[in-house]
Amino acid sequence: MDFSCHCNSGNNYSQCCLKYISDKENPKTALELMRSRYSAFVTKNKDYLLKTWHKKNSNEIGQELFDENLKWVSLEIINTKRGNVNDRTGYVEFKATFEIDGNKTTLHENSKFKKEQGRWYYVNGTHK
Ligand SMILES: [Zn+2]
Repeated sequence: MDFSCHCNSGNNYSQCCLKYISDKENPKTALELMRSRYSAFVTKNKDYLLKTWHKKNSNEIGQELFDENLKWVSLEIINTKRGNVNDRTGYVEFKATFEIDGNKTTLHENSKFKKEQGRWYYVNGTHK
């Protein structure tokens, strides 16, 4: 069964973030990694989030984002800077909205990504 991807790309999940989350392919751009990390938050896939995080420090991942009552509502990409196939660093500015007990919260972040040995990693984010 297939459905429209969690990351709001308009593509089917199997042709979008699932390829990366299931390790069939590596994201080629910072934006693809960012989208797949959002989908991993939606599916509460902590392993993927740690694997694609430069720091790999599970204690700092923000346990509140894995609350079972938390539902991710939408992802909106605002801007990207570098992060293409031939780059080593990239930035993605986005708004991600989640809902918990009927209250919506929007995170507005500019995330930094870094490529090492052909793989993109999330480095950190600046909140807007
Ligand atoms: Zn996707």
